[in-house]
Amino acid sequence: MITFSWNPWHGCHPFSVGCKNCFMRRADIRHGRNPEIITRSKTMFDLPIQKKRDGSLKVPSGSCLYVCFQSDFFVEEADEWRNEAWDLIKERSDVWFLIPTKRVHRIHQCLPADWNDGWPNVSFALSIENNQAARERLDQFLKIPCCHRSIFAAPLLEELDLTPWLETGKIELVSVAGESGLKARVCHFNWMEKIFYDCLKTKTKFTIHQTGRYFVRNGRCYIIPKKEQFSQAKKAHEWLKKEAGKKNQPALFD
Ligand code: SF4
Repeated sequence: MITFSWNPWHGCHPFSVGCKNCFMRRADIRHGRNPEIITRSKTMFDLPIQKKRDGSLKVPSGSCLYVCFQSDFFVEEADEWRNEAWDLIKERSDVWFLIPTKRVHRIHQCLPADWNDGWPNVSFALSIENNQAARERLDQFLKIPCCHRSIFAAPLLEELDLTPWLETGKIELVSVAGESGLKARVCHFNWMEKIFYDCLKTKTKFTIHQTGRYFVRNGRCYIIPKKEQFSQAKKAHEWLKKEAGKKNQPALFD
């Protein structure tokens, strides 16, 4: 599947401890911008319906758009623009929209009038970083009407027990990741391993997005260069699948 980033607005306020080393905020500060000023994109707002010179759509049918990775789709300052964004999402019912958020408490009030039980081309991904965030956000997340729900456990800051929510069968995927950047907090392979087996038990899809910079495995902390954080994550996931296969675990998921 072809993927694109769609950032209809930019900027955000820290919401919880998971935001401490937010890559968007780091980049803005590096470039002398204030990440707390939330601005509507002048050039990218209508990306889903933008066309190339030959008249074809820039985002082809069947693609996936990662929405608002430089903000939070449900941040308050975007309330005046969000309905327009929903209209674009509705117009491109042939494209998959993945919307991550930490602001689960705002989702319900920000849904479009004709949302009903959810639109089939929209998937919400709830970001959680620790058990407190899981307790505070996941019950509410499960009550949101939607067709597709996943969890982004990132940056993973401690061992999590997601079993009570995975057992509901309402979560399609858990994606885990460590934190990147020089000031990143460590992530332990064991924490990912626990989520992997919890997902196996509950038949939930699982993936490791990236290892993060400081990755602890078998008591040793590895410093993983940024360019290797994705490939090492893939290796770690392959290793987990192989080990689970040796233990005759049930069906494996990518
Ligand atoms: S919610 Fe997301 S975009 Fe906003 S500050 Fe936190 S990590 Fe950054």
